[in-house]
Amino acid sequence: RSSRDKCDEESNLTVAVRVRPMNSRELGTVGVSDIVRVKDKDLIIQVEGNGNMNFNHLFQYDHIFWSVDEESPVYSTQEDVFLTIGKPLLNSAFRGYNACLFAYGQTGSGKSFSMMGRNMCEIIDIDSEDYSGITPRFCRDLFNRINSLPETQTASVEVSYFEIYNEKIHDLLTQTNNLNRQPLKVREHPEWGPYVVDLTVHPVNTYKELRNYLLIGNKNRATAATTMNEKSSRSHSIFTIELSLIDTIDDKETSRRSRVSLVDLAGSERLGNSHNSEEKIRQGVCINKSLLTLGKVISSLADQKKNLFVPYRDSVLTWLLRESLGGNSLTSMLATITPANSHIDETLATLRYACQAR
Ligand code: ADP
Repeated sequence: RSSRDKCDEESNLTVAVRVRPMNSRELGTVGVSDIVRVKDKDLIIQVEGNGNMNFNHLFQYDHIFWSVDEESPVYSTQEDVFLTIGKPLLNSAFRGYNACLFAYGQTGSGKSFSMMGRNMCEIIDIDSEDYSGITPRFCRDLFNRINSLPETQTASVEVSYFEIYNEKIHDLLTQTNNLNRQPLKVREHPEWGPYVVDLTVHPVNTYKELRNYLLIGNKNRATAATTMNEKSSRSHSIFTIELSLIDTIDDKETSRRSRVSLVDLAGSERLGNSHNSEEKIRQGVCINKSLLTLGKVISSLADQKKNLFVPYRDSVLTWLLRESLGGNSLTSMLATITPANSHIDETLATLRYACQAR
C-alpha cells in the first residue's frame, strides 16, 4: 500500500521535511527502530511498518533534510537547512516582499532546534556555527547584507516577539511576563492589515542587539513554560523582523518595507493522551484550530487557481499573518519528524499535513 503526494514547482510555497536523530530514550527502548529512509535525490520519504505489517508510505516534498547520522553523505547541517529554506526569504525581504517560515511537528521532533538552535537560551549555542538555527542565521545574514549595502541605500530593522497560547497573544519582550498579564488584542489597520495592539517593537542596529531580544524572548517563553505545564509545546511563538529600505537616487527617496515572521508552532500531537482536564481540552482545541486553519490557508494558497476562499480569520495565527501569506509573499514550511517507529502515527500525521500544504 502506498500513498504519494507531489509538490508543484511554480509556487511561493516551499515544503521541507527534516528527520532528526534518534534520541537516547528511543535508542534505549527495546523494539524501537528507525523506519524513515530517504531515497536518492528524489525527495521521497519511505516509512516502513514493523513486524508483518509492511507499509510503504511515499511522500514527496521540495526538500528533505536528513539529520539522522552525521556520517551519512546526505546529512543536513543547520547551515544547509538555513541556506535552503531560510535564505530565499531573506532575499525576497530585500526585494520588499513579506515572508513566513513555520516549523511544524510533534513536540520533541526538532522544531526549536531547527528554528533557534540546540539551546535557545544560551548565547553560545545561538551563535555557534554548528548549532545555531534558522532564526539567528537569518538575523546574522540580514545585518551582513545591511552592512554591505551601497551608499544610496539605508536600512532599518525592528523586531517583535510574541506567543499565541490558547488563541491569546502575549508579548515575549516585556518584563511583565507573568501568567496574570492581560492578553493583547488584534486590530486591523486600513493600510497595514491586522496587527497586535500594544505589542512592543524594538529597533535594532546590530546583530548583537537583535540577539539580545531573541534571548530575552526565548527565556520568557521558557519561564512561562515551566510555570505552566507544557506551555511551550502548546503555544506558537512568532518572531517578526520588519525591514525598511530607503533608496536615494538623485535626491529622491523611495522606500520598501517587508516583514518576515519566523514561527515555531505548537506541538502538532493530537489531544490523545492529554484529555484529563477541561482546560487542557480547551487548549488543545485552540491549538488544533490554529494548526488546522493554517493548513487550510496554506493549501488554499497552494491551489490559487481554484480561487478558494482563504479562511484567515478563523484563527489568531493566520489572521495576524495574513499580509505575509499569499500574494507575493514567500512561505516555507519545515515539518520535523523523528525516525523512530514508536511515533509512527504522529510522523504520518505530520507528513500528511505537510503534503496537504501542497
Ligand atoms: P520541539 O521544539 O519540536 O519540541 P526540540 O527542537 O526541542 O523539539 O528537539 C528535541 C530534542 O532533540 C532536543 O534535545 C534537540 O536538541 C534534539 N534535536 C532535535 N533536532 C535535532 C537535530 N536535527 N540534530 C540533533 N539534535 C536534534
